[in-house]
Amino acid sequence: MAEKTIFKKIIDREIPAKIVYEDDLCLAFEDINPQAPTHLIVIPKKEISSVDDVTEEDGTLVGHLFVVIRKIAAERDLSGGYRVVTNCGRDAGQEVMHLHFHLLAGRRLAWPPG
Ligand code: AMP
Repeated sequence: MAEKTIFKKIIDREIPAKIVYEDDLCLAFEDINPQAPTHLIVIPKKEISSVDDVTEEDGTLVGHLFVVIRKIAAERDLSGGYRVVTNCGRDAGQEVMHLHFHLLAGRRLAWPPG
């Protein structure tokens, strides 16, 4: 069987994380190497490797992740703005092969990204 990803181990409580939100479908936690004052990772509990593996049947789940992101942003008063990023594949720098959205805020974020 394929080895669990770091994020699956966080879901299964095999390694610790600073979890800030959880429900039946997803989990949000602080990034271990934050790139901004707010840097959260939002993941589905379902094991989906990346955007490349999202199917039609995942539509409701992925929509739910964005609703959770919007609620977290509202709770934290990120009214100055925030960025939601997902890296897909090698050239985008994806390190963890479990679909995740970075929620970044708290500083001016450059565009275009590096
Ligand atoms: P990506 O490059 O899009 O795959 O991003 C993976 C992210 O996961 C990086 O920002 C890492 O800092 C973060 N990360 C890796 N391991 C952990 C961990 N154990 N807890 C929290 N965040 C992690």
